[in-house]
Amino acid sequence: MSEGRKAQAEKVIARCRKLASFTEEPGRITRTFLSPPMRECHREIAAWVEPLGAEIRIDAAGNFRAFYAGSETNAPKLLIGSHLDTVPDAGAFDGAMGVVLGVALLEHLHRAQLPFGIELVGFSEEEGVRFNTPFIGSRALVGTLGDDILARCDVRGVSVREAIENFGLKPSEIPDARLRGKILGYVEFHIEQGPVLEELGLPLGVVEGLAGQSKMDFTFAGRANHAGTTPMHLRRDAVAGAAEWITAVEREAQRMPGLVATVGAVGAKPGATNVIAGEACASLDMRHRLDDVRATAVDTMVRLAEQIAARRGLTVRHATKASQPAVAMDAQLVGEIEEAIRRAGCEPHRMVSGAGHDAMILAEKFPAAMMFVRSPGGVSHSPAETVQVEDVAKAIEAGAQLLELLAVSPAAQTRRIHRA
Ligand SMILES: [Zn+2]
Repeated sequence: MSEGRKAQAEKVIARCRKLASFTEEPGRITRTFLSPPMRECHREIAAWVEPLGAEIRIDAAGNFRAFYAGSETNAPKLLIGSHLDTVPDAGAFDGAMGVVLGVALLEHLHRAQLPFGIELVGFSEEEGVRFNTPFIGSRALVGTLGDDILARCDVRGVSVREAIENFGLKPSEIPDARLRGKILGYVEFHIEQGPVLEELGLPLGVVEGLAGQSKMDFTFAGRANHAGTTPMHLRRDAVAGAAEWITAVEREAQRMPGLVATVGAVGAKPGATNVIAGEACASLDMRHRLDDVRATAVDTMVRLAEQIAARRGLTVRHATKASQPAVAMDAQLVGEIEEAIRRAGCEPHRMVSGAGHDAMILAEKFPAAMMFVRSPGGVSHSPAETVQVEDVAKAIEAGAQLLELLAVSPAAQTRRIHRA
């Protein structure tokens, strides 16, 4: 890796740390939708891209948008972006690095114009922290930020609509945030937020798809009774039944390649140390890149719960809280990112994202794909989240290769242009 790329990577990391200093909570990184530090964040990024000749605006959904023109006025547009909001007590790289890498790629062009324009987007909201609903920013770009979302309130009773007004923006202008014209595609650089690339010893991955998700609640009911006087063979212990099922879920998930299943929240009623639990509830979160595999897994876990409950004299009921289908990334763009990673001297690894990303929303209307950068220790959503300079340097190189590839590939410009 050249010294130049390494210096650019160090700059990217320093800029991510700079953005991390714009926070709602001193000493921690917390930046939610249209909070005051988001304005500082916008101002800082604007100062980086303005000298490159980019046209800057904050759209009515609070997204930072910088347009870098192509060689012709009517040229199609490539979108590069990620989110600028964070979870509470976040790391410096989740989301922000995708935007900062986009800035590095614009700098890499040295004002050269490509046969397509580039729009850099810093999404205002992806994590769903403030309004308990994610992707407010990216929804505006595809035209699905509707009144139902605008009416949602945060814990202080401020609605999305009011938050937009309080930031000095006009909710009536949300339709103008929608992407128009010819769109080449959307590329999102993001830290992996998991341990897979590290395990493989690879710096970069290409995301083929985002896993579908099922979120369910299970409630086991038995009979609450005295912990001292009820012999073991006469109990109907709801917690013991739930516990047996939880380990069965883990065992079954290990048998289904690619499936991840998590029981992350459990509860017992009445919840006293000297009472056999009469009721136990357990959440279930399952994800897979194939919806039919996930559907089979749901059936399996429900059947297991019923079998275990029946054997123990318990009853069990379940409710589905959410079922979100898997989202495929654009095959052509995935192939191009893969080739760009190869040209950057790395072995590309095709992978599925278990987490949701803005790319999922953009994929509803446009070709979208993502490049993952190795997360040391697989750590994310934590102040311990980090990246390696060499990996960031390779990501910049791969990004530069991707721009070059798209610029010379007639296929990229004719086969895949979508009109918004
Ligand atoms: Zn993220």
